[in-house]
Amino acid sequence: MTADQDQSNQEEQQERSTKGHSLLHGNLSVVNTEKFMIEALREAESAFREDETPIGAVVVHKNRIIGRGHNRTISLSDPTAHAEMVALTSASETLGEWRLIECDLYCTVEPCVMCAGASVLARVRKIYYGATEPKFGGCGSLFQIPLDTRLNHQCEIEGGIMAHESAELLRDFFQQLRLKKANRN
Ligand SMILES: [Zn+2]
Repeated sequence: MTADQDQSNQEEQQERSTKGHSLLHGNLSVVNTEKFMIEALREAESAFREDETPIGAVVVHKNRIIGRGHNRTISLSDPTAHAEMVALTSASETLGEWRLIECDLYCTVEPCVMCAGASVLARVRKIYYGATEPKFGGCGSLFQIPLDTRLNHQCEIEGGIMAHESAELLRDFFQQLRLKKANRN
């Protein structure tokens, strides 16, 4: 390949990637949403490895992750150590501020009533979640806490993001748990 050809190839590639970017631009928020949900899923996988229910969460401020967490109720013997609570606390530590203004919470599973309440208290802007939680869900399934106008703050909610991946992790976890129990008996 001559230097000229190489140059023109590079330009072509650059043009293509620029075009790609402009094409993507309309969907940039979707891409970002998934990008952060993948990080929440990574946290859920950490929980899985620690034999905790695989739920993960991250808090995003100005396009940057400022808090992460996964379920630690068993290891900490703490019923409040849900992924979202851990992530909210770590985000507040990062900001040095209990109010999480302009922060979004990404969680792999619909937050329960406690975590939905904590998100309202923290003034979270928007909650993105993956799988729905029909038994404890506080963001649509059983209650709509973040949208309740009797409270002094409301968070937007968007569910169903990478729901399949989130639900699959849970399914695998409980399947393994059942197997372990069966092997013990
Ligand atoms: Zn919770």
